Amino acid sequence: MGRVILVLNAGSSSLKFSIFEAGGCGVLSAMAVGQVEGLGTAPRLKARGADGQVIVDQRWTTSELANHAQALQEIAVLLRSRFAGQELAGVGHRVVHGGPDYSAPLLITPQAMEKLATFVPLAPLHQPHNLAAIRAVQEARPELPQVACFDTAFHRTQDTVAQLYGLPYEYYERGIRRYGFHGLSYEYIAATLPDVAPEIAAGRVVVAHLGSGASMCAIRDGRSVGSSMGFTALDGLMMGTRPGNMDPGIILYLLQQEGMSARDVENMLYKRSGLLGLSGIGNDMRVLQDSDSPRARLAIAHFVYRINRELGGLAAVLGGLDALVFTAGIGENSAHIRRLVCEQARWLGIDLDPAANEQAGPRISSAGSRVSAWVVPTNEELMIARHTRKLLGL
Ligand code: AMP
Repeated sequence: MGRVILVLNAGSSSLKFSIFEAGGCGVLSAMAVGQVEGLGTAPRLKARGADGQVIVDQRWTTSELANHAQALQEIAVLLRSRFAGQELAGVGHRVVHGGPDYSAPLLITPQAMEKLATFVPLAPLHQPHNLAAIRAVQEARPELPQVACFDTAFHRTQDTVAQLYGLPYEYYERGIRRYGFHGLSYEYIAATLPDVAPEIAAGRVVVAHLGSGASMCAIRDGRSVGSSMGFTALDGLMMGTRPGNMDPGIILYLLQQEGMSARDVENMLYKRSGLLGLSGIGNDMRVLQDSDSPRARLAIAHFVYRINRELGGLAAVLGGLDALVFTAGIGENSAHIRRLVCEQARWLGIDLDPAANEQAGPRISSAGSRVSAWVVPTNEELMIARHTRKLLGL
């Protein structure tokens, strides 16, 4: 009987999952990838097999499938029916916050769950759902080992100086510090560079994770030394619906002068800003690229401007730059955005190869480019599966 690892990534209204074949001689391959989405509105389970073919597409009413626990039951049904010959050996979870201490994945124990619950105030929109998925598995299969993989862990190699905010020091000690996120994505890229781009793997690299959430990370010799996201996933680049870095005085103004409640401000910062807020059209980069609207163009121009500001800052942190790597939905798929970013970064020594850029590289800079540019697809789920396998000794 084969052994499989289930990887779960729980959001507020979705439960994404991947099923990986464990064991063998070190190669982990995804047998199925899917998600239950629309929890609370229009629940739907859709999954594809290793060949990309849809293996299940099913809908429910909200009363039939109301929460993560029930979503998990449906994933278990899929596992039993489609992969009957496989034994589930463990579950790996994406957990957004590992707090100041966790710099590596963690085997779930009752004590660990208590500790992880203390990080809920640091990521109130994400952490409760991540923990709910762990509890749902515990209830359904208490004997099954589970592993938490943190989005913050990869950044714990950063110097204290890089993690500080200029607030009274006691707040740093109380946990108000730069944590950085998208760590599983950056860790995957850092682990992949020696194969894809060995000449830069030990160098000074900035990775731009440009998806609906977007951030950048300065990596030296495979380790994080700086990141654009900070205490929360609101900091840094402008994103699909989040503004990124902004003057904190704006929040005081909104609360004190505009009479907005903290909840209203939170809603605006997480859901109504960024590409959506600036364009007034949407947060999907494909739609904005195809639009003639001046505000869509303005939103894209600001998106690119912010990437380049951050690139300059992170290159300074690294003391120079050897390579820029694009990844995630926009970074991997939008030749247009990559071209705009690289054109603005010419001063840094990046010379784009337009044809290579259209084909998504992997190398997209010219042979003579002093600083190279790359496209490397990320795979956070595979990273979680690798950690889970290693920690469980599979
Ligand atoms: P992610 O969060 O990494 O899944 O990325 C999602 C984002 O990638 C979406 O907002 C899309 O706008 C963007 N995206 C996906 N495909 C393309 C494409 N071909 N061109 C431009 N943007 C894309």
